[in-house]
Amino acid sequence: MDYKKLGDLLFPNITKTPEDYEGMYPKRELPEGAKVTRLGPSPTGFIHLGNLYGAFVDERLAHQSGGLFYLRIEDTDDKRYVEGAVEIIINSLKFFGINFDEGATMDGDIGRYGDYTQSHRGEIYQCYAKKLIEEGKAYPCFLTEEEISEIREKQEAEKLNPGIYGQYAKCRQLSLEEIEENIKAGKPYVIRLKSDGNPDQTGDDVRRIKVEDAIRGTLEMPENFQDVVILKTTGIPTYHFAHVVDDHLMRTTHVVRGAEWLPSLPIHVELFEKLGWEAPVYCHTAQLMKLDEEGNKRKLSKRKDPELSLDYYRNQGYHPAAVREYLLTILNSNFEEWRMDNPDEPIDAFEFTTDKMSNSGALFDLNKLNDISKDVLLKLPASEIFDFLKSWAEEFKPEIIHIFDDRAYLERILDLGRNDNKPRKDLIYAQQIVEFISYFFDDMLKIEDEMPAEVPAEDIPAILKAYLESYNHADDQSQWFDKIRSIATEMGYAAKPKDFKKHPEEYKGHVGHVSTVIRIALMGRAQSPDVWEIQQILGEERTRERIGSRI
Ligand code: GLU
Repeated sequence: MDYKKLGDLLFPNITKTPEDYEGMYPKRELPEGAKVTRLGPSPTGFIHLGNLYGAFVDERLAHQSGGLFYLRIEDTDDKRYVEGAVEIIINSLKFFGINFDEGATMDGDIGRYGDYTQSHRGEIYQCYAKKLIEEGKAYPCFLTEEEISEIREKQEAEKLNPGIYGQYAKCRQLSLEEIEENIKAGKPYVIRLKSDGNPDQTGDDVRRIKVEDAIRGTLEMPENFQDVVILKTTGIPTYHFAHVVDDHLMRTTHVVRGAEWLPSLPIHVELFEKLGWEAPVYCHTAQLMKLDEEGNKRKLSKRKDPELSLDYYRNQGYHPAAVREYLLTILNSNFEEWRMDNPDEPIDAFEFTTDKMSNSGALFDLNKLNDISKDVLLKLPASEIFDFLKSWAEEFKPEIIHIFDDRAYLERILDLGRNDNKPRKDLIYAQQIVEFISYFFDDMLKIEDEMPAEVPAEDIPAILKAYLESYNHADDQSQWFDKIRSIATEMGYAAKPKDFKKHPEEYKGHVGHVSTVIRIALMGRAQSPDVWEIQQILGEERTRERIGSRI
């Protein structure tokens, strides 16, 4: 067969040659060892934790090595395209501190290795498909869907590997004339790779490929034998072909992607080989898992787990520094130890490595994220938390924007109990913080808890009245508590909880129950940080008003 003629027949409009593209996209001039990484999200409008997890690896590998990290929009599957999705990708990642050096941006491409949107690269893919056709390494396939299902049924019945390969790849046999006729008759066709792999993968002579994965070490798997589609009937490439062409021409050195791509690795290896290119270093990241209610590990699912979406963290108001810190703990097994030894170092001082990454499933745990978030927020000055909360509220909770009117007041609230020897770690994420501090604002104060059962109903106004009468805003903490203790003893409550425990028959309750009455009158809750400190922040007038209104 005259393959050159076949190439011209199938791609009459492709005038550029592979050499042209090699010249347009030369090897990058970067220092020795510099890594070039990329994120290739599909613009589905859903950006998930896995994207951020992968992006984080990309970003660290590139920037730690003096290389660069670019964004490529993988929109070859137009069924999944959602308007505005690119903006969502860029903004969400930026929020979490992931910045690209090159690639698609809201204002067009940056960098000389574009176009960075796959749907704009049709001619490039076709040029390389043409090259493979001309070399007899690919062919047009006219099998209809029905024919393909028939083949599959037959293979299933005979317990053979499903797919188009070997004897089932009928269109491999077509002559140039038959192909010409089919095209003239307007029959749709795809371009398939003509695989050299051996379909018999059972015998001793199964050929296996070996790939050094930066996370997983040496991978050994049977070679590809499927005549996979590289260009669809529309001329649009499949993921396999686009990945190979783009990562070669954009000079990617490290491909970080999810473990779901491992099964297609042999296809990619064969494609790189057939195109005569060196494959990049693959880094297949672990699946994100969680423990379900029964304690079983399972994959995070879009349907069941809202925390898979990055939007979740923004809506809830997690501080990006907390999310980054948490991601590193699941990404690198030695991070936590490093953090303990270097509590005040900026996170980027940690040397991230792929060989410390888990390959058996990274366990994602919201409780752990919350714990880390507490520590991260504890290190942030109140003024910074104020600014973060405010910008979060502007976007997600505008109805509470008035709480930011008095900066000094809110900053004191945020700092409450944080400067002690054993600092409080009450602050986790914006939604929770706003709820936690709501009682400081009259319009958000709610009585949430019941008065203690030990205190009879008629004692409540009496306790509050006595409290109000004895209240002196200038009292220090111990003077203040002495007064509560005397109110308690005068009214038949033990001055110390342990006295009550020893002789419950002698008392109604103890001083703790009395102070809970005061706490609930002031804050609506039985649990809160130190009451004396809260009163100092609320101010004398508001304190008296709150107590007075409950008598
Ligand atoms: N577009 C692919 C995805 O969204 C990217 C995979 C890759 O990084 O190669 O899953």
